[in-house]
Amino acid sequence: MYDLIIVGAGPAGLTAALYAGRSRLKTLVLEKMVPGGRILLTETIENFPGFSGGITTYDLISRMKQQVDSLEVKIELEQVLEVDTKLKKVVTSAGAYSAHAIIIATGARAKKLDVPGEDRLTGRGVSYCATCDAPLYKEKNVVVVGGGNTVAEEAFYLARFAKSVTIIHRRDELRASAILQEKLRENKKIKFILSHTVSEINGQDKLESIKVKDVNTSKENIVACDGVFIYIGYDPDTNFLKNKIKLNGTGFIITDDIMATSHEGIFACGDCREKSLYQVITACADGAVAADSAYKYIVGKCK
Ligand code: NAP
Repeated sequence: MYDLIIVGAGPAGLTAALYAGRSRLKTLVLEKMVPGGRILLTETIENFPGFSGGITTYDLISRMKQQVDSLEVKIELEQVLEVDTKLKKVVTSAGAYSAHAIIIATGARAKKLDVPGEDRLTGRGVSYCATCDAPLYKEKNVVVVGGGNTVAEEAFYLARFAKSVTIIHRRDELRASAILQEKLRENKKIKFILSHTVSEINGQDKLESIKVKDVNTSKENIVACDGVFIYIGYDPDTNFLKNKIKLNGTGFIITDDIMATSHEGIFACGDCREKSLYQVITACADGAVAADSAYKYIVGKCK
């Protein structure tokens, strides 16, 4: 029996663990992969306060984990399969655990384009992780799909290896922040195909080309390329919570401003919850608030 179970060990979960540990709550963190979460798919973070010039995500996560390791917090690498919100019981790939309160910090995973060829050629030219795969595309031509901050950051990273990086976006302007857009325009290796969608991904044993469609004229073109990196947003990892706590139409957990969900004693923080700004700093802030709320809930309950 734990005081608190935290599901997920990304920046939100690790910060919640730090605050819970410092409140002397007996805490268990359950993580299905490795501590760090999705942020580890990016090499460097430039806008985390206190690190002018940026910090590698590996370094940032290692520091967060070190802080947690010094406290009475146990981290187990087990996938959570089920949460009993009433009994506050969590069933994992390896066992079952109970607690007085639970914090969900499961984050989100990359969305797919859902076009022909995408699944078949994943790992053979189609990728969702430039940090993992960019070195395979040295002096090659790659395209990146999407228009947000992630596309911009991954395009810079790919440009360090590839001969050319073409950003394909469905609208005539990106939604990435102004400073990133300025930097994109300055990079000679980065080109744009705007107002186009990707309708097919083609190749026999490995990627050879993609078919793009002009959203204004419906004219289709073939773009030859060696790699396609897809960054069109994220879906929350909340399937196991369907019909248990309130989710919005796209599966993000609905919380109030103290990170409480629709079920008492269950809190949520980070990219798995509905909010206006998805950043590492806001994930950490959520984690601190969720742990504080869980602490107050547990103390109130145990009085
Ligand atoms: P995002 O901001 O949601 O952008 C997704 C992009 O993909 C949008 O441009 C969208 O187009 C496009 N898109 C969505 N579905 C599509 C489809 N089916 N076909 C083609 N294009 C599609 O996602 P993100 O860039 O991954 O960022 C996620 C969150 O993390 C954001 O809040 C972002 O600010 C944050 N983030 C922050 C940083 C940073 O500050 N360092 C870095 C990375 C991410 P439309 O523009 O037409 O909607």
